Amino acid sequence: MQHPLQQPSRIPNAMATLIAEVISIGDEMTSGARLDTNAQWLSVRLGELGVDVRFHTTVGDRIEDNVATFRNAASRCDLIVSTGGLGPTADDLTRDALAEVSRHPLVLNEAALTHIEAMFRRRGREMPPRNRVQAMFPEGASDIFNPRGTAPGVDLWLDTDHGKRCRVFALPGVPAEMEEMFHQTVAPRLIAQVGSQRRVIKQAVVKCFGVGESDMELILGDMISRSHSPRVGITVSAATISLRITADDICESQCDEQIERTRREICEKASQFVFGEGESFELQHAIAANLRRLGQTLMTVEYGHAAPLANWMSDVSSGDLYLGGQVWRAKPADRQALEESRQTVGADWLLAVNSYPTLQSGDDSPAAVTLSLLGPGESDFWVDHQHLGGHPSILHPRIGKSALAFALSILRNRL
Ligand code: ATP
Repeated sequence: MQHPLQQPSRIPNAMATLIAEVISIGDEMTSGARLDTNAQWLSVRLGELGVDVRFHTTVGDRIEDNVATFRNAASRCDLIVSTGGLGPTADDLTRDALAEVSRHPLVLNEAALTHIEAMFRRRGREMPPRNRVQAMFPEGASDIFNPRGTAPGVDLWLDTDHGKRCRVFALPGVPAEMEEMFHQTVAPRLIAQVGSQRRVIKQAVVKCFGVGESDMELILGDMISRSHSPRVGITVSAATISLRITADDICESQCDEQIERTRREICEKASQFVFGEGESFELQHAIAANLRRLGQTLMTVEYGHAAPLANWMSDVSSGDLYLGGQVWRAKPADRQALEESRQTVGADWLLAVNSYPTLQSGDDSPAAVTLSLLGPGESDFWVDHQHLGGHPSILHPRIGKSALAFALSILRNRL
């Protein structure tokens, strides 16, 4: 079986032991006016560092709710990363909440004040007195430099009633500011905190198509149990299955060894469904790789109400492999019509989908689809009839992917 193997992605300076909660603060999130994207972004970044994010909490702008939320998080986690509530207005309460939970009064941080004043000067304005409050931190806290805004972040240790300590990084809500501060300051401080206990986490993603999630679970058996090492997680996106292998060890070579062993096991158990590796590797990449290997070209013909193949294939090929796509409304997919098209365009291969149905919500009944592949040789003509169903939001991609998987099964076996 041939598919390009990617190097597993190394997550640098990973740590494996911290349990974390991400807190998003603001009425705009609890009211539904704004989607909380910070929690998602932060959870991915923290996960990359090996931090185990176990909780997300969203809380509105009420001081008692903020205090209770921080207290609760500190009692069950080693690390809290919060966003929002650091502005200068009366509804920005994160500093006050942290002062109350830590039982330390708010005191002025001179360096933070100097930075805020300078920020206003650079924008040609005088600092309104109200912004001074942004330089008030619970006693003992360090500031987190904000290169883009006036709200510095807060880095503070909380002592809980159970004698446990929990570190808080409070960041502003504005996504661009928060992200830069995380990279510049929070990540390096976390790495320094974990120090010699640092572990390496590496991940690799194996991509599969042509099988449902539960059938894949059955095929893989024990490999996907939570106690398996390395961990193997299954996610599905528009009928493509990603098997994410996560190895966690003291050094990179041991992670590589674990990943390689698991990768081989997956390929043994599910070889007919595996088409490649890598987070963003899709069936069209596998098709392009095989065409390149053969030194041949492809065109597509799609009938009906969509043309995903033309879209995907143009994305992955600069014109040397993929000569283009035609969209036909209602022509019969007979060999002669397809052959004429292939010769006019001058492609070695022609892949046809007949047809993409209209999408009606509520109608999940399978669509009868004919997939045809025409190749350069006299006898190179394959036809596959499939019944493909699914939610309307994924039916067209599923049909397009089934066509690519069908073509791939043939291209792979060409010498
Ligand atoms: P500022 O100094 O801008 O007032 P802040 O820390 O007080 O910073 P907020 O006022 O809560 O932050 O939010 C500022 C902006 O960032 C708003 O547009 C808000 O919608 C957006 N924002 C806040 N939290 C989030 C979040 N969790 N996800 C996405 N956007 C957010």
